[in-house]
Amino acid sequence: MTTPSWHERSRTVHIDGRAVIEGRRVDAASGARFDNISPIDGRILGEVARCDAADVDAAVASARAAFEDGRWARKPPAERKRTLIRFADLMLAHEDELALLETLDMGKPIRYSKSVDVRLAQNCIRWYGEAIDKIYDQVAPSPQDSLALITREPVGVVAAIIPWNYPMLMAAWKIGPALAAGNSVVLKPSEKAPLSSLRLAELALEAGVPEGVFNVLPGYGDEAGRALALHMDVDCIGFTGSTRVGKQILQMAGQSNLKRAWTELGGKSANIVCADCPDLDAAVAGAIGSIYFNQGESCNAPSRLFVEESIREAFLDKALALIPQYAPGDPLDESTVMGAIVDAIQMKTVLGFIDDGKAAGARLLAGGHAARAETGGLYIEPTLFDGVESTMRIAREEIFGPVLSVLSFTDLDEAVRQANATPYGLAAAVWTADMSRAIRTSRKLRAGTVHVNQYDNDDITVPFGGYKQSGNGRDKSLHAFDKYTELKTTWIQI
Ligand code: NAD
Repeated sequence: MTTPSWHERSRTVHIDGRAVIEGRRVDAASGARFDNISPIDGRILGEVARCDAADVDAAVASARAAFEDGRWARKPPAERKRTLIRFADLMLAHEDELALLETLDMGKPIRYSKSVDVRLAQNCIRWYGEAIDKIYDQVAPSPQDSLALITREPVGVVAAIIPWNYPMLMAAWKIGPALAAGNSVVLKPSEKAPLSSLRLAELALEAGVPEGVFNVLPGYGDEAGRALALHMDVDCIGFTGSTRVGKQILQMAGQSNLKRAWTELGGKSANIVCADCPDLDAAVAGAIGSIYFNQGESCNAPSRLFVEESIREAFLDKALALIPQYAPGDPLDESTVMGAIVDAIQMKTVLGFIDDGKAAGARLLAGGHAARAETGGLYIEPTLFDGVESTMRIAREEIFGPVLSVLSFTDLDEAVRQANATPYGLAAAVWTADMSRAIRTSRKLRAGTVHVNQYDNDDITVPFGGYKQSGNGRDKSLHAFDKYTELKTTWIQI
């Protein structure tokens, strides 16, 4: 028997858009729903519960009760570890289904949904599960007549609000450390891509995460999201999304119960290629591959390319030769490397930036148009502007689409100054064979991650997050536990 194609499977995959509260699939209390539209071809995949403040109250109450009775929080860490590893195993066992949901929901190529998103997400859950019974608390060097213990405790009820660009992975970055540390979680996925998060909640239950410990509420930001951020019984909020909404999240935390608020926000990352870069082909492939990966819908995409003037032409020749490989294709075809743009709003935003770049006088060398309109889906050609000035909107604002702005430089210090002249500070890169120069430059770059002579390295072992208006706190690595735990000092008189 031959394996059915992804297209065949896409017609039979089970879509359930209901919320998960207290371990059960439920409609929104109001009964309201909205259509889930696939950007691949405009088809309606199904209906999704439009949760609001009433559902938030129910999910937070469920999470609170689960936390207070200790059904998860007070389990031995080794037991939470076993459950989370089972959860990761189940994700792998269902990797085709999860990959399909992700691709249908937000349009990324199936090859990456499977080889990147599901793989990294399950690894994240597994890694935090494995870590949790290997972390020790501390004894302070206190005077002889006392003993001072420094211990970490779960913070309580954690709300996680996530974006649509890596829905499953962003969910894993939040729930991995939060659940491992013993918290209860209420996750609100983006209204644009809720399906994988809902399925994860079912798999978590099947793995043995107790009811009420991991709730998922699909819905809109200004309804379910806002109600979570303002809720008086949410102890901590882990937010990933735009800088605009991140600022509102911090305000809402302050306006309500001063819940701990962590934000992973937007970026406008600079990629600096010096004339002495060790391998020009690798620098071109890194620059092009990283901006067009995930249709440019990556927070850390190197959207500003600073290339030294003496190699600009050679660089552009090579870049233009590579770009056709990134032409958008059918996301359900395994050979496709660039998929669909998530929705019509995002499509309009990206095309608006392209028009703006043209009007401002940047030279459009590749792309610049919508594509594959005959499919009924939303696609944009990989686009490259040369001759971009730092003052142009395409060089200043996050586009979140497949658009690369090329700026050239003759003085590295000036390039670094311009690279830093942005409110964002998520990632940056420098390409040079001179290691002292690389290290000096990397120290000057105001970004949470700096890449040297590559742009793709990524691993759960390293923290991820931003300087400046790219957010606070860090996802991934053991540092993420800082967000989801409280530090307690206990003084004992001897
Ligand atoms: P967004 O800010 O519009 O939405 C993010 C989430 O917040 C969604 O779930 C949305 O429903 C919710 N939301 C919107 N308004 C809200 C409100 N008033 N109150 C509470 N919740 C609200 O962002 P997006 O368009 O979904 O995602 C793209 C953004 O995410 C980009 O800026 C990108 O750079 C950023 N991002 C950052 C990282 C990171 O790790 N730094 C990772 C991925 C994406």
